[in-house]
Amino acid sequence: MSDGTRSATTTQQGLDAHQQARDVVKLFQCEHCSYPLREPMTLPCGNTLCRPCLPPLYKRENITYPVVEGRSEAFLCPFEPCGSEHSVGDCATDVTLNKIGDIVKTFISSCKSKTPELSLLLEEKLNWPRMVENTVEVMPRSRVLHGGRIASTFAMADMGELDFHSSVAYTPIERGVSDAIQAVDVNVLENLKAAIRPELECQVCYQVMLDPSTTSCGHTFCRRCLSRAMDHSNHCPMCRRVLPLAHTQETESSNGRVTDLIQNLFPDLLTVRKDLAAQEDMIDEETNLPLFPCTLAYPRMPTFLHIFEPRYRLMIRRVLENGTRKFGMLSYKSQREYQPGGPHWQEYGTVLFIDRVEILPDGRSLLETRGLYKFRVVETAVVDGYLTGRVQRVDDISIHEEEAIEAQETSVATPLEDDELGRIQRLPTQQLLAYGLDFIRQAQGRSARWLHQRVLAAYGQPPEDAATFPYWLASVLPIAETEKYTLLPATSVRERLKVTAEWIHQLEQARW
Ligand SMILES: [Zn+2]
Ligand SMILES: [Zn+2]
Ligand SMILES: [Zn+2]
Ligand SMILES: [Zn+2]
Repeated sequence: MSDGTRSATTTQQGLDAHQQARDVVKLFQCEHCSYPLREPMTLPCGNTLCRPCLPPLYKRENITYPVVEGRSEAFLCPFEPCGSEHSVGDCATDVTLNKIGDIVKTFISSCKSKTPELSLLLEEKLNWPRMVENTVEVMPRSRVLHGGRIASTFAMADMGELDFHSSVAYTPIERGVSDAIQAVDVNVLENLKAAIRPELECQVCYQVMLDPSTTSCGHTFCRRCLSRAMDHSNHCPMCRRVLPLAHTQETESSNGRVTDLIQNLFPDLLTVRKDLAAQEDMIDEETNLPLFPCTLAYPRMPTFLHIFEPRYRLMIRRVLENGTRKFGMLSYKSQREYQPGGPHWQEYGTVLFIDRVEILPDGRSLLETRGLYKFRVVETAVVDGYLTGRVQRVDDISIHEEEAIEAQETSVATPLEDDELGRIQRLPTQQLLAYGLDFIRQAQGRSARWLHQRVLAAYGQPPEDAATFPYWLASVLPIAETEKYTLLPATSVRERLKVTAEWIHQLEQARW
């Protein structure tokens, strides 16, 4: 029976249409206003509320990055235990829940007219999670409605007469109709599930969403599907909108409401989906990635390779045959960094994806690859002469942490004895990027040799995206590899921009 708690106990079959009708309706109700969700928004902490239920907004100071509309405005999360500051820029209408809300509303109103006139008395049983201040006396409400338990409970919530935390007692008005009402509920839930099921499919893998993750544009995908799509592009796989800080996905919370819907209505599909994911894990690249110690490579940047050693020809043939087209690129340690007995390669590297391959008649090959994401080597082994490893994906810190660091570092008072390096530390993130772009423009103006047309043809024009710019600069700038390597372990955009600003500062000092 419904007990007023958020996640009801479910069996393999999911919620029972008749016995747990109250819990079925709760899946569509706002925890704040108790109405069926209106323009639902899912917050970065994974909680959902109606747009009209959003708390008052205020302006945030000292944040310049990422430059996305709405980021300067924030509110304090009304959900326990979150309570943290959320940026409006991270909260769009939740497209999946919005569609589901529309479907349910239309469906319930149509089934009320279709079902027989079986009247039910619904009595609200108040079930406050805690004593709420200023609610001196709340009277439980009751109504006579029809259409079965699910439809009548939904109607009561839609009239604003059923608190989210309340349970409901049902009494048929006439005798001997219990079975008929139960049959109506079973039918309603079956049809309702059929209507909303397509909305709970991930548009990347076309299966029920596993660990649903919602983007700042309001689209939801399996966490892993989204993260893989973001390896290739920083656009939303649905609406193509640019998502800032593509590589922070792993740290964001799951969409709690979508998770609840799937767990409570489609547990059987979820089990199948989980089994499939477990099989994928067995062949997961992170547990067994072919490694190629050769050169420095970065996410989003191209790397051109000439493969001639037989063992690497074998490695490349295998990743082409198994369809992953991926391998890990590691650079070598300098003599100074190398420790006797230790590995010759660096700890951090980049997973490369083979975009194009040209196999020459003598078996050598020319590869055009693109960096996907960074990793840290945990363990290595040698397979048929080449290196493989268990690796750990290295993603950036979350946008919220990124913003907090900027706000903190830029609000430090200027010390009396200020130097250029100290000034770099306190520059707003957006100005750190501008400093880099300016430097490139000046270098282009004086036709610097390292910015030759050939280089630009390979790496493209300098990207205006702060997350990518340091990788681009490191790809074209003639400085020591050990310096360039520092970008790989760095997990914040701001940190990488500061590193590049210091390089530029040193180069300018040397020029004068
Ligand atoms: Zn609401
Ligand atoms: Zn929150
Ligand atoms: Zn998926
Ligand atoms: Zn989108």
